Amino acid sequence: MANQTFKSNSSVVVIPPAEHSIQLDSISENAISVVKTICAAGYEAYLVGGCVRDLLLGLQPKDFDVATSATPEQVQKLFPNCRLIGRRFRLAHIYFRRQLIEVATFRGAANEENEKHVADDGRILRDNVYGTLDEDAIRRDLTVNALYYDVNEQTVIDLGEGVKDLEARTIKMIGDPATRFREDPVRMLRAARFSAKLQFEIEPETKGAIFELADLLENISSSRLFDETKKIFLSGYAKANYQALMDYQLFGSLFPQTQHRLDAASEGIESDKKMLDIGIHNTDLRVEQGKPVTPAFLYALLLWPEVRYKADYYHKQESMSKKQALDVAGSEVSSLQLTRTSLPRRFSLPMREIWSMQPWFEQKSKPRVNRLVCHPRFRAAYDFLLLRAEVGQADKALADWWTQIQEQEDIQELQAQSKTKNDYRSKSTHRRPRKKRRNSNH
Ligand code: ATP
Ligand code: MG
Repeated sequence: MANQTFKSNSSVVVIPPAEHSIQLDSISENAISVVKTICAAGYEAYLVGGCVRDLLLGLQPKDFDVATSATPEQVQKLFPNCRLIGRRFRLAHIYFRRQLIEVATFRGAANEENEKHVADDGRILRDNVYGTLDEDAIRRDLTVNALYYDVNEQTVIDLGEGVKDLEARTIKMIGDPATRFREDPVRMLRAARFSAKLQFEIEPETKGAIFELADLLENISSSRLFDETKKIFLSGYAKANYQALMDYQLFGSLFPQTQHRLDAASEGIESDKKMLDIGIHNTDLRVEQGKPVTPAFLYALLLWPEVRYKADYYHKQESMSKKQALDVAGSEVSSLQLTRTSLPRRFSLPMREIWSMQPWFEQKSKPRVNRLVCHPRFRAAYDFLLLRAEVGQADKALADWWTQIQEQEDIQELQAQSKTKNDYRSKSTHRRPRKKRRNSNH
């Protein structure tokens, strides 16, 4: 069944198949089948957001999102593989073997009958008022993210200026940027992130509002900022995103201690900056090569300038051992950071181990070496040592020594044995069932 006609009377542009570049065969079959199933049940449904934007730009979409007139409960009835998630923003997740399709019901304007949904500072607290397609479009963040694709007609629907801004390579908030950022300050991070990923310019009014309102990010929950931090630094565009965060003065909202340390320009800061640049660039390379990337190493890297500074102070001024100084500094810096962008324990513990293990590399006696190479965090801590050596914070010859030692057969054997032991241990350890994750999408 074809989608109903939307009731917009505004500047709706419907682009026929011959006039845009999206081919059905570049769209995930699961996404197409979700849209078709919802439409067949008599509702409207479209692909929306990043996937339409990326397809029009000839990029491979990261995921496929669907917008529909059906409520989450109505969607759930159509798919046995569906789960409803989120409170503030209720969504239907439809699971396929290797893919998740997210289905959101059209958002609408709140009226007086609806419960209070905007806080005194303008932030949206709840966003579960349903609406029509054109109401949905103006509630999205960027004009280029508010494009819809009608799978049945193969048309692109633009209710704003999405296509125009896509062609002009412009990042522009829908509506008044300051109001939209007050409603949800995370949109500032998103604007910076998409400008970096797509290499689009942020339009002046949107840019001005970011400079003015960046502090509002302080009101955002630490878990939501953790999710954004992962998107910024672990999805293959870390270098460009980091630059954009710096350009728009947003980095300090995520990592205030690091920003403070960079601004204070204390001793050795140039090497810290270089280490951040190299480490961030390496993260992109790992993503490109399909290697795993972890928030533990990322946070260890991003917080290092402050940890190093403090540890140095405790070691020199308060006569702590290097290891103790690093432990104290690491503990202080991480507890403060976690109030801004959270970090689950499964990452924060390894992060602190990466720091604490650094002095161990200076000890080259056989028993210590044997113990260190078998440590579950050895590889991460060694990678961290390499970075430090590259910027002159550790002895290059020492780093080379650790590189060479890993080529020795006896060391490799030791590592293989301990890996088997560790694997066995982690499999046999009884695990508590994971807590259900709260939706953090909006
Ligand atoms: P990608 O998935 O490639 O990172 P995306 O644009 O699809 O990019 P998602 O986070 O998947 O981003 O969100 C899907 C769509 O939901 C967006 O394109 C946008 O239309 C809308 N959206 C997401 N976050 C917000 C927000 N904070 N405020 C308004 N609209 C949003
Ligand atoms: Mg998406």
